Amino acid sequence: MKKRAYNFYAGPATLPLPALKIAQKELLDFNGTGMSLMELSHRSKGYAEVHTQASNLVRELMRIPDDFKILWLQGGASTQFYMIPLNLQKQGKPMEYVNTGAWSKKAIKEGKFYGDVKVVASSEDENFSYIPSDIKFSDNAAFAHITGNNTIYGTEYHEWPKVPDDVPLACDMSSNIMDKVIDSKKFGVIYAGAQKNIGPSGVTLVIVREDLFDRVPENTPTMQKWKTHMEKDSLFNTGPCWAIYMCKLSLDHLKGLGGVTAIEKINRKKAKILYDTIDKSNGFYKGHAKFGSRSLMNVTFNLKTPELEEKCVKEALGRGLVGLKGHRSVGGMRASIYNAMSIEGVQTLADFMKEFQENNQ
Ligand SMILES: *Cc1c(COP(=O)(O)O)cnc(C)c1O
Repeated sequence: MKKRAYNFYAGPATLPLPALKIAQKELLDFNGTGMSLMELSHRSKGYAEVHTQASNLVRELMRIPDDFKILWLQGGASTQFYMIPLNLQKQGKPMEYVNTGAWSKKAIKEGKFYGDVKVVASSEDENFSYIPSDIKFSDNAAFAHITGNNTIYGTEYHEWPKVPDDVPLACDMSSNIMDKVIDSKKFGVIYAGAQKNIGPSGVTLVIVREDLFDRVPENTPTMQKWKTHMEKDSLFNTGPCWAIYMCKLSLDHLKGLGGVTAIEKINRKKAKILYDTIDKSNGFYKGHAKFGSRSLMNVTFNLKTPELEEKCVKEALGRGLVGLKGHRSVGGMRASIYNAMSIEGVQTLADFMKEFQENNQ
């Protein structure tokens, strides 16, 4: 087999090797069933255990209080962009958003299908290189919405904005779910496409506080109500069993490492290695995100010219460092260093960056 790549793609992204190996081992015979998990009924006892374990791991690792429900849905985080306003709207009340980049904008666009949307803060004035600090939501908002980590621009909230008592905060954590310890109680809804930090594509984790299930209008199609899925523990219809199984394996691995507290320490180390490399390059590498808003998960930076960036991406690839091209809206380079990326991988990238700088000054 080819040596395993250091995969810096933004998503789908690298998964823990031990989780992949278990999946490989169990591929043709899951737990003595003589079948692959992919072939098992979603109503079988064998699958039910996986399903429950995956939810329990989320609850345990994120310390989710009992009055929140854990849902495994399809359609990606992008489907939640409309399911949130659909399920949380309140007649005559504005839906309030913070615009910190491309994913926020997509969420805002969907909100507008359901009523009055207010953008209460934005960092568009400086190409989304920071998280606004003066965020104020109104007392009568139906809900508040933020994007926890801006995958494309490499910015992340390090402090959560305050929300009035009765206003639920919804947060898109697709690219930073479980990257650091958070106080889940601060949120009404947390959602994340699994394919960045906790599993493969095909499933979206949605965590909703119990009191928020009853707002949805009665005449809403069945599948679009969170309540439908909550009442059947995400088994109303055939779910993405394999994707949930992979999440379970990757979360098992995270638990084994010492959980979110332990991975946060590792993530801070990894991010520091790369930001130090950028900061000590005398301007050869220029970080996109402002200091206090830098993401632990997506490190974005530019070189002097697009030609030099292209050369850097190409040479990195030759060293087994894959997926470093930046998103087209910021250009440059992006290293996505999710939970499953090792310190060794990040150090290899930093060493390469120093060498590339020496050879191309
Ligand atoms: C990738 C991403 C999305 C889109 O997720 P899908 O599951 O592809 O719909 C949404 N928000 C953020 C922050 C992302 O990084």
